[in-house]
Amino acid sequence: MSWLLLRLELRRWRAAGRKPVLWWRDDDARAPSAELDRLLDLAARHATPLTLAVIPDGDITALAARLGDTGQVCVAQHGIDHQNRRTGPAAGEFPPEWRRIRVATQLRAGWARLAQAPQAARIFVPPWNDIHPELACALEDCGYRGWSAWGEMASPGQAPRVDAHLDLMRWRGGARFRGEGRFLSDLTAQLASRRRSGAWSAPIGLLTHHLVHDARAWSFLETFLGWSRGQGGMTWNALPDLLAAAGH
Ligand SMILES: [Zn+2]
Repeated sequence: MSWLLLRLELRRWRAAGRKPVLWWRDDDARAPSAELDRLLDLAARHATPLTLAVIPDGDITALAARLGDTGQVCVAQHGIDHQNRRTGPAAGEFPPEWRRIRVATQLRAGWARLAQAPQAARIFVPPWNDIHPELACALEDCGYRGWSAWGEMASPGQAPRVDAHLDLMRWRGGARFRGEGRFLSDLTAQLASRRRSGAWSAPIGLLTHHLVHDARAWSFLETFLGWSRGQGGMTWNALPDLLAAAGH
């Protein structure tokens, strides 16, 4: 049923002469791992550009060496250390009382560590997709090219922002594959809302977390990447290019 509804939606896109634009972000890398090898292999075999959101709280030399220089993988800054400094249910690195200058100072320190990787692009991805009230201004102060959080279709503020919309995983009660039906109906809903508002070129972001994928998540990801380019008729773009377009 989910595949059927998705195919019907894609038929409407084709009738309008439009192709959906996708992009891919994977969060929480710090170092090389067997799971990272699997992710990079998947991206390479499907020739799909990938943005790795890397936590800059340690030495990233080994990670940078593993990534090599294929040009297919871009490294973005995933917060400062992925530590929750909030009280209450919503997690975030920056407590509400932190001022713009304090947020900016922390952003710069994280970037200084990440910038050692040749693949690093000055793009910020806040952990838990948490948006501190001073974050957008602090990113501008520091000269970031843009940022990426969750759920918006277009750049809501002045700084270029391209979000993720499709989570491969479910989180409540322990990380596990979201399920094919849920994932595909999320995608269909994202496509339909773009078609209805005429936002044909608004990218749809896939979010993965390679360190916690179960077997079903890996298997579906493989299927989806292959299908999206083939029968799905979708285009995968790189985040830096999408941010540059969003800034115009
Ligand atoms: Zn994270």
